[in-house]
Amino acid sequence: MKYISTRGNTEPVGFKDSVLMGLATDGGLLLPYDFPDVTAYLEEWRHLSFQELALEIISLFTEDIPKQDLKKIIDNSYKTFRHNEITPTVKVNDLFILELFHGPTLAFKDVALQFLGNVFSYILEKQGGCLNILGATSGDTGSAAIAGVRGKPNINIFIMHPTGRISPIQEKQMTSVLDDNVFNLGIKGTFDDCQYIMKSIFADLDFKNKYSLGAINSVNWARVLAQIVYYFYSAFSVMKSTGEKKVRFSVPTGNFGNIFAGQMAMMMGLPIEKLLLATNENDILYRYFKHGDYSRKEVISTISPSMDIQSASNYERYRYVSHMCWRSNKYWDELDPNDAKGRSRAFNRHVTNSDKDYYNFIKTGEYATTKDYWDINKFIANRGTTDETLNIIRLYAEKYNYLLDPHTALGVLAAEKNQSDIPTICLATAHPAKFTDTMKVAIGKDVIHPILDGIKDAPTKFDKVSNNIKAVQNFLSDRL
Ligand SMILES: *Cc1c(COP(=O)(O)O)cnc(C)c1O
Repeated sequence: MKYISTRGNTEPVGFKDSVLMGLATDGGLLLPYDFPDVTAYLEEWRHLSFQELALEIISLFTEDIPKQDLKKIIDNSYKTFRHNEITPTVKVNDLFILELFHGPTLAFKDVALQFLGNVFSYILEKQGGCLNILGATSGDTGSAAIAGVRGKPNINIFIMHPTGRISPIQEKQMTSVLDDNVFNLGIKGTFDDCQYIMKSIFADLDFKNKYSLGAINSVNWARVLAQIVYYFYSAFSVMKSTGEKKVRFSVPTGNFGNIFAGQMAMMMGLPIEKLLLATNENDILYRYFKHGDYSRKEVISTISPSMDIQSASNYERYRYVSHMCWRSNKYWDELDPNDAKGRSRAFNRHVTNSDKDYYNFIKTGEYATTKDYWDINKFIANRGTTDETLNIIRLYAEKYNYLLDPHTALGVLAAEKNQSDIPTICLATAHPAKFTDTMKVAIGKDVIHPILDGIKDAPTKFDKVSNNIKAVQNFLSDRL
């Protein structure tokens, strides 16, 4: 399988190179050239364990890793999970909850980042060299990425987080890791600022090559790839237990990475009837799927901080696969490649004002170029407020004795508002103990987890860095 860029100006690369490249060299995102149709395997795959299924699915995309090596990587990656099913699905009332928080940092990001950390190590073992990971986090990515690579030889990791805008526990989960290869950068700004700095540094190819920079954000295709697995695994489990032939998924969404993996699963032939896209008050994706408005607004801090995003990276992948004409480079060519903000503005202008196809897409849900591919009507968007989130957490705790974290609650809210006869699986993206303050407001008591309790008073290590590209570049070059 070869990987190409959404912006069409990167030579196709194999899987291993795509993992090392992270962001495509032309500033776009990498995607497989083609999506395998797995309809014929569905029957056979229904009975596999999580790890066996992961091997079948992932190996379709990783021709340059021998299958027995891939098996070792997968087995190692999921040893760190505390549940023997890795990602179990439980029934709560009429809904199904896919629990993705049994990994080392109690967030769904462990599923992909445990895998990615081991893929990085594998590639470095085979090819030699070193890797310096640069990432931005709205809360959970950072700790999961750090947990994926801490202490690994020949890898350093630099994670930027917006100071004061992530939960104290999330911050502690990152800064209490004292390994020499781990660096935490507190940036005075928003997550979007951190992501902007990161993308700009990756776009500086001289710098990227000089310091062998690698990406762990969902710009890295391997993240999306590993997440495809649990859509299959959970759908099989629910189809088996209900006898239904189709399912829906409800996905708490920020950067569009998780739900994009669901889109991939759907395109590969898993019978997903709809994808429910849940946002908080940072509702750019809600507005887009409701009425085609992809205009950026100020980022608001909410009780679901991992979704406080108004600039969803993977939206570009979505647009690309949704109308392949993205590959014509007409919008990007005129722009300064280092001016990511200018590009985003042009992109927003473009999508909101000038693309005839785009309007057709909004009106009919179809693009002439991709009729048989994709369809906006496969998504149902919902936006939840803080009050609604707290109320649904309270309701599920009181009525069903089940604790939803504030992100998961938004997905459950979307499912409750869009009820269907088709079984709905809500992705539980974090353990509620990661957000004790909010849980206390919602249900009046603390939610604790021994892993988090254990780091409460642990010593920490982090640096404050100014909110600009140069400062972050200097921080890196000083330490490498
Ligand atoms: C990262 C995260 C999300 C958002 O996922 P995306 O892939 O960015 O859409 C939702 N919930 C939690 C708990 C997260 O950590």
